[in-house]
Amino acid sequence: MKFNKRKFIKYLGFVLLFANICPIKSLLASSKKVINPNLSKRQKDIMFNEGTERPFSSDLLNEKRKGFYHCANCDAKLFASNSKFNSGTGWPSFSEALPGAFKTKIDYSFGMKRTEYHCAKCGVHHGHVFNDGPRESGKRFCNNGLCLIFKPEYK
Ligand SMILES: [Zn+2]
Repeated sequence: MKFNKRKFIKYLGFVLLFANICPIKSLLASSKKVINPNLSKRQKDIMFNEGTERPFSSDLLNEKRKGFYHCANCDAKLFASNSKFNSGTGWPSFSEALPGAFKTKIDYSFGMKRTEYHCAKCGVHHGHVFNDGPRESGKRFCNNGLCLIFKPEYK
């Protein structure tokens, strides 16, 4: 077979392009798995592509009952209701997460430096955490309501 230099260069280009784009994507994808088969397209877009729901669209904004907020994908317990507060931002907000509930990474998208957080158990995106919280922790977890399931505590 005759060695085709032009084809080889083209092929090499593809390999380099692939190697550049894919490690990041596959790394992210490998740590996230759909566990709940009933997730909607919108939920998946937020959880797996770090999307954001429209502000003031979540039913959980007005949720004031006692209980726990769980991951809508893997059911891990993430927040206790006593950490929830009204931030006025339009997204369910919490002053602190349950220990070990989340892992964080620095997110530079949209020209901002923000701290993204995701479920420690299943890896899906939940929101961003800011240092302007009104309570003692100083934290404000800004969470997409679509990523959470509230389970009230019955007594
Ligand atoms: Zn999870």
